[in-house]
Amino acid sequence: APDIRIEDLTIGYDNTPVVNNINATLPGGGITVILGGSGCGKSTLLKNILRLNTPLGGSVFLGKHNILTLKRKPFRCLKQRIGVLFQDGALLGSLNLFDNVALPLREHTRLKTAEISNVVKAKLSLVGLEDFVDYFPNELSGGMRKRAGLARAMVMDPDILFCDEPTSGLDPINSAELDELLLELKERFDMTIVVVSHDLASMKTIADHVLVLGDGKALFEGSKDSLLATE
Ligand code: ADP
Ligand code: ADP
Repeated sequence: APDIRIEDLTIGYDNTPVVNNINATLPGGGITVILGGSGCGKSTLLKNILRLNTPLGGSVFLGKHNILTLKRKPFRCLKQRIGVLFQDGALLGSLNLFDNVALPLREHTRLKTAEISNVVKAKLSLVGLEDFVDYFPNELSGGMRKRAGLARAMVMDPDILFCDEPTSGLDPINSAELDELLLELKERFDMTIVVVSHDLASMKTIADHVLVLGDGKALFEGSKDSLLATE
């Protein structure tokens, strides 16, 4: 899986910077936790990497591609290699789990019904929800909804997985389960995983690499071991 290289990136809104001049390399095949308090710019950084917002300056490289300057069509292709677990899971309430997870396959592939069914069931079983295909989001616990969102983020076999506050709103037991699941996915699949979090315990469990945002800048970037050694 590719490294994500962030170079001199300044992000913000309406020409007002939120975080200035970020430089970081998020290692391929590992889990990077982007850590920082509420309002420090973590979600904004994620949105800029996904081109949902336009940065005020700088570059983001995925392998050799600068994703910020790629033309629309190649960027659309590249985005299919990126899975995103949104903060609220972003499941559609009107669809059951099967159809929620099948959505990206129906939108982006020409797989036949039986093949879609196999992939969806495999992904739901990856997150322990194989017995819940017929359930609707409001019939599931918060932890299950997060895991369902993760199954959907994984359904296209992404090279890159972004998770926005995956443990937010979960009790300690469900949080620990989600952390375990992310570690398991890292072991099994070759993915670059980026987790936005303000959860120190979770960071200590899952991170290989850490980018700390605060005071309008990157306060730290490096391995988790080097961060914990400076405490
Ligand atoms: P975090 O994810 O770390 O909690 P955000 O990236 O959501 O932080 O927000 C960073 C800053 O940008 C905050 O001061 C927030 O008020 C501001 N902000 C977020 N979204 C917008 C927006 N759409 N327009 C203007 N300012 C915004
Ligand atoms: P094998 O190669 O023995 O089939 P893998 O662990 O490589 O085992 O793949 C098992 C399943 O996981 C396959 O259905 C494959 O499509 C899927 N898979 C492989 N890579 C990823 C990925 N990055 N994200 C999600 N699913 C994946």
